[in-house]
Amino acid sequence: MEKAKVAFFDFASCEGDQLQVINLEEDLLKVVEAVEIVSFREAMKGHSDDYDIAFVEGSVTRRSDEARLKEIRKNAKVLVALGACATLGGVNLLKNFQEAENVRKFVYGDKAFQYETYPARPLKAVVPVDIDIHGCPINRHEFVMVFKSLLLGKKPEIPNYPVCVECKMAESICVFEMGMTCLGPVTRAGCGACCVTEGSYCWGCRGLVDNPNADSQREVLAKYGLGLRDILNKFRLYSGFSEVAQ
Ligand code: SF4
Ligand code: SF4
Ligand code: SF4
Repeated sequence: MEKAKVAFFDFASCEGDQLQVINLEEDLLKVVEAVEIVSFREAMKGHSDDYDIAFVEGSVTRRSDEARLKEIRKNAKVLVALGACATLGGVNLLKNFQEAENVRKFVYGDKAFQYETYPARPLKAVVPVDIDIHGCPINRHEFVMVFKSLLLGKKPEIPNYPVCVECKMAESICVFEMGMTCLGPVTRAGCGACCVTEGSYCWGCRGLVDNPNADSQREVLAKYGLGLRDILNKFRLYSGFSEVAQ
């Protein structure tokens, strides 16, 4: 049987999600045996435009990115967004809330006029995306699960319930009790609420649950006198491009 051809691409990103894939080590070797990787700039030389599955990291931050992304979409049977920059726009969205000219001058100084830029956006704002692998960075085990599902022709099961559920299962003390704020009530689970178990709070890197109006943990928010809008307004870092947060 012919092996599926797989390619990795990146747009504006820190490449941390591709690094997570490379860090799979033994699991990556098993994956590599099952497919033919035709393009992966971080891991190999060579490139082919003949691929079935495209994993795309990073957000679109220049108009000229759009043509490249559309070409990838045209070539791929399945396009997978890899990490929060690709699924949500990610940390690149921060510039959208500043004056564009100020941002350009701050970053590029007197060379600002040489560099093209426009408001950052997730891949799905430009082309249809088949599957999102959430997180900043992605969870390696979730990547393997999605990869295997694709090879078996199955739809991967990505959780659609809030991080609070996993947080309660981990028996962590709610950070609201300690005077902090947390996006767990509206954020898609799948990370094991790791930021809370490690002493921080949820920043929302896995994006919102599909319907935060219905699927959020409203009782957690109500207990602390907050509504959905209050909490979303506090966290533009990852969800600033979503309609709910605007
Ligand atoms: S989602 Fe996070 S890890 Fe991935 S490219 Fe963006 S900043 Fe880097
Ligand atoms: S609000 Fe945050 S800390 Fe509290 S239960 Fe939910 S995820 Fe855990
Ligand atoms: S707890 Fe929140 S910020 Fe941390 S990994 Fe999970 S979704 Fe991302």
